[in-house]
Parts: sequence; C-alpha cells; structure tokens
Amino acid sequence: YSQRYQSILQTRLQLPVYQFQSQLLEAVASNQTVVVEGETGSGKTTQIPQFLVEVGYAMPGKSCVACTQPRRVAATSIAARVAEEMDVTLGKTVGYTIRFEDVSDPNETVLKFLTDGMLLREAMNDPLLSRYSVIVLDEAHERTLATDVLMGLLMEVLPDRTRGSKYGELKVVVMSATLDAEKFRSYFNGAPLLKVPGRTYPVEVFYTAEPERNYVEAAVRTAIQIHKCEGPGDILVFLTGEQEIEQACEEIRLGAQDMGHDAPELVVYPLYSSLPPAQQKKIFTAAPGPRVVGGPPGRKVVVSTNIAETSLTIDGIVYVIDPGFSKQKVYNPRIRVESLLVSPISRASARQRSGRAGRTRPGKCFRLYTEQSFYNDLQETSYPEILRSKMSNVVLTLKKLGIDDLVHFDFMDPPAPETLMRALEVLNYLGALDDEGDMTDLGRQMAELPLDPQLSKMLICSPEYNCSEEIVSIVAAMSVPQIFLRPRENAKAADEAKAQFVDATSDHITLLNAYATYEGIPTSERKQWCWDNFINDRSISSAESVKKQLKGIMTRLDIPLVTCKGGNGRYDTNAIRMALTSAMYMQVAHLQRQGSYLTVKDNQIVYIHPSSSVDGKPQWVLFEEFALTSKNYIRTVTTTRGEWLVEMAPHYFDLDNFPECEAKDELILEYKKKMRRG
Ligand code: ADP
Ligand code: MG
Repeated sequence: YSQRYQSILQTRLQLPVYQFQSQLLEAVASNQTVVVEGETGSGKTTQIPQFLVEVGYAMPGKSCVACTQPRRVAATSIAARVAEEMDVTLGKTVGYTIRFEDVSDPNETVLKFLTDGMLLREAMNDPLLSRYSVIVLDEAHERTLATDVLMGLLMEVLPDRTRGSKYGELKVVVMSATLDAEKFRSYFNGAPLLKVPGRTYPVEVFYTAEPERNYVEAAVRTAIQIHKCEGPGDILVFLTGEQEIEQACEEIRLGAQDMGHDAPELVVYPLYSSLPPAQQKKIFTAAPGPRVVGGPPGRKVVVSTNIAETSLTIDGIVYVIDPGFSKQKVYNPRIRVESLLVSPISRASARQRSGRAGRTRPGKCFRLYTEQSFYNDLQETSYPEILRSKMSNVVLTLKKLGIDDLVHFDFMDPPAPETLMRALEVLNYLGALDDEGDMTDLGRQMAELPLDPQLSKMLICSPEYNCSEEIVSIVAAMSVPQIFLRPRENAKAADEAKAQFVDATSDHITLLNAYATYEGIPTSERKQWCWDNFINDRSISSAESVKKQLKGIMTRLDIPLVTCKGGNGRYDTNAIRMALTSAMYMQVAHLQRQGSYLTVKDNQIVYIHPSSSVDGKPQWVLFEEFALTSKNYIRTVTTTRGEWLVEMAPHYFDLDNFPECEAKDELILEYKKKMRRG
C-alpha cells in the first residue's frame, strides 16, 4: 500500500467508531436492522460501510453495500474520500450514483454511495433491492422525504429478504447524528441501538444583543472580527445558498486584505451543492502556515450551506458563525405550492452547528440572533420533510412499486390525508392514474423519468406536437441551476446579452434559444462564449449531460425525437407552447383588469417576475415557479391560450365547478367557440 494510504489509515484508526467495530459487526450479524447513533465526525459515514465490506458483506458482481445520503455533494465527496482511504479507483470498487450521474460499475462496485432518492428510483425496477446485501441509511435524523419513504419501503421489503430467501438476507443500518434514535428503534420493531460517543470539547456560545438586520453582512463582519481578535483556529460560517455564499466569500477576502500584509494569511472557501468537485475538495486542505517563521499561523474560513451541519465534517474548525437560517422546503397544501424558502433553523440544528466548533479543541460559536430568540422563536426540531412536501412524485413512485394502499403504508410520520388526496388528484388529471387510482401506461412511462410528473408528461406528449427535440432541451435546461447570470455590478450588460435569446412569448423558449445556440458552438470555444454571454457555463454543460441521459431514457421508452424547426431554421413556437400547455395547465393564471394575474387552481393574485422575457400582458400564462417574496411572483412564464386550455384539459377547466371569476367568463367564451368549431 502507498505511503498516503498508511498515513490516512493512522488517522482513521483514531476515529471513535473504531472502538465499536466488533460490537457493531456482531449486532449486524445477529439482527436484520441496527440503529447507530453517533456524534458528527465520529467516523460513521466513512468507516462503517468499509467495516461491512471488509468482513465480506459484498461480492463484486453479486452483492453490494449501499450507503444513502440526503445530499448529492455528500454522496460524491464521501465516495471520493472512501475510495482514497481504501486506495481504490472511484467508480470501480467504490462508486456513487446521483440523479443524472452514475459513477459505479455493476460488475465491480462493492460499496456505493447514493442519494436516498436514487435508491428509491432503483427500487422501482428492483423492488426487493436484490443487488444489495446491506443498506446503510445515513443521516436519518434529517428525515428527508426520500429517507422516510425508503424506511417505509424497507419495512415492506425486509420480511421478503430474510436468510434463506431468494436474494439472501438484507441488512439495514440506520445512522443518525443524535436525537430521534429511540424513534427509529421503535419504528424498526425494537432494533438494537448502538451509541458511538464522539470526542467533543466544550463550545462557548455567544448571542447578539440585538437582532441583526442583515445576516450576511453580520456574518462577514463577525468572521473578520474573529480573524483580527481571536487565537488560531479555522472558521465555519453557515449561510443558505450559492449567491449569498459567494458574496460573503468575496467580502471576507476583501476585509482580510484591508488588514494589511503583516496580518496572518486568510483563505476562504465556499461550499454548496453546485460547486464542482475539485473546488469542494478544497475545504479539506489545511490552513496556511505563518507568514514569517515563528509568526501566528494563517486561517481557513469555510462558508457553507447546511451540508457542513452534519453531513461533512471539516477538521480544525474552532469558530462557528451561525446566522440561524437555512433553505427549507415549504409546502402549503391549501394553495398547493412547494417552495424553497430561507427559514429559521431549529434549536436542534443550532446545537449541531455549534458542536462543529468543538471537534479539535474548545471552541466558540457566534449565534447572530438574540438568546431570547433562540428560546422563544426557534422550534425545538423541524418537521420532517414529508409533512412539508407535495406528494405527487412520491405517490407515483409508490404506485410504481406496487404499493396501492397508501393510507396504510407504514410512514414514520404519515402525511396529511389531504396532501395524499391532492397528489392522487394531480396524477389523475395528468393521466398517470385512472379514475380507480390504478396506474396507466402513461403513468408507468412517467415513473421511468427522473423528473417531476408534469415535466415527465410534457416530455412524453411532446412528439404529438412535433417538438420532443425542443422539449427535451427545455426540460434539461430547467433541471440545472440558473443558466442566465446577472451579476449586480454588470446587470445592464447581462440583460443585453440575454436579449439576443429572448422570445417575447416565453421564458421556456428563451431558455431553449440560449441552450440551442450553446450546442452549436464548437467545444473549444464554449467557455469563452459563456463568459461573453453571461451564461453559467457549469450549468449549461450539465444541462447537456442531462439531455443526453433523458434522450437515452426516451429511446428506451420509444418516445420519438422530432423537431419543429422549419426549413428557415425557426422553431414553430406555437407547437412548443402547446406542448408546454398540455402538461402545465394546472399552473396557469389569467390576466385581471388591474393588470395582476389570478391563478386558476387557487385564486392567488400573482405578478410576472420582472426577469421574465414575456412581453406585455397576455390573457393567459402558464408558470413553472411560484416565488413568495415581497410580492407573489410567478417565474419562468409562457404565454398560452384559452382555446388550448379548454381543448387540452376540459376536465380541469370544468365550468360547473369553476370558481366565479373573470377567467370563467373567458372560459365560457372559449367553450362556445369550441362548440362552434365542432
Ligand atoms: P460522521 O459520519 O460520524 O459524521 P465521517 O465519517 O463523515 O463522520 O468523518 C470522519 C472523519 O473523516 C472526520 O474527521 C472528517 O473530517 C474526515 N474526512 C471526511 N472526508 C474527508 C476528506 N474528503 N478529506 C479529509 N478528511 C475527511
Ligand atoms: Mg456522517
């Protein structure tokens, strides 16, 4: 083995889980399910799957150990780390699978890290999870939607995968950073619970005297203050998303420069999900040394999303800055919208965050809110995601898994019946389920696509409008982070660049124009082209890879690729807008006299977002996203027509049940016209 392997091995042997290796393996050997509770950083994620592989739970080409992660970054970065620890090639012995990216080899991979959502997808085609001998459900305390569904599914699968069954015994190891371990234990019929104590040092917690008006600014200020006044040790700052994080990184760098040449060196690294792997890895590099021999050492600052709360442990952190927010999925079943909103974290999360400061030695945590707010405003724990999600995707998955009785499905926390009903209703409207609630052929095809049901339906129906080539590009471009960049300091130039792609009737077509132009640029010139045109080059190149994979699935499902591009090189934009309408008619809004729009499904007053390319005030628009900010904005908008709506979705625009509003009069007119046309 290499020297690097030996040195990593020494570090690994120091991790607290090593003390529990034999106890854990015994528990797994004599039980089908084991719950492991252990402090973050104790080595659960990186070591336990390796223990299982070492004692022979996996055989190349026959059986595999899976370890699920709620987040893509965690799956990819941990797989890379474990491959390094085992001194093997990533993608061979150790691999990972995330949506639209599979770096594993069915004949060689014995340890696979994958997102919980991907394992659920695999279960659709392999309901008994026959390839796996052990499933490690990691970060179970996060209670993501997919983890909850997986747990329910495993409850059904485990009795069919006992010793002596066709595919042998399936073991489950549920791992959690703290707290609810008892709850998991009783859910899994009293499975044994193993506690791995971590090595933690005391962390002193500080609060602000007054609430902070701008938490990004406050976080930057605090980081610079620590660098000026506190002893050696790295800093971890929690912020909520890419933009905020990049902005804070920039400002911290500038602040450190102002301190002058003799101040200790400060390096700043961002961490968020869309960051390329090479840059993600940097968070693990050691802080710089002193500038002069014997001087104070340099310092590392990591500015991260929630991912650093429990999923990834960064050694050497002594100071934590916690503004008290994260991006969370919020679903309002009344108005039926799901959105990602910056929301206050729970007290449990705040405690986890402060714990990150005490890994190497005693540390400090700066909470950018008042002590009173910690006790009075924060919830003790956050609600599981399943109680905050729209369920149409999950219901389709469960139906595909052959689970028909959703009401009696063993959810750890069952979603509200109303939410399930809505999901069934949406799937019925889309034609995925028939009136009896049984899956249709269309529904089975939709379940094969790793997309939201509406997008799946759009793609499947697009050949009818002769534009599947265009729709697959649009769907791919919508599946990646924002393609158009608009830096604040350069907004005018960015808008001018975007203008060349704008279609005045549709943001979707605008996106298509940009994407299709990109496809036509020679590979070697693409980077420059993106730079010149304010296009996010990482996003648009991942859109290309998404498109390739979707096309693969389309071929498998026999969905023909046809284009609506005419001889003149122009798209038949009506055809594209009709294809969009055929799947999106549940998300339409109608112009009101006052110039605002009223959504059809729930009578919300909304406005077209200023970033939209849609010109003027069309009567009917469909929209992708509902952004609840100061105003209720709809984003990614396309102009549609009343006649298309009544044509394509007469059951949805059912006049007998339609609320009294201006839109209803419009619809009645459309129906009359339709009758006249015959
Ligand atoms: P847990 O799952 O119990 O929170 P992990 O297994 O994730 O713990 O982490 C164990 C140790 O491995 C931590 O000290 C962490 O810093 C280290 N580690 C994990 N990934 C990397 C990496 N890519 N580079 C260096 N160290 C890493
Ligand atoms: Mg872990």
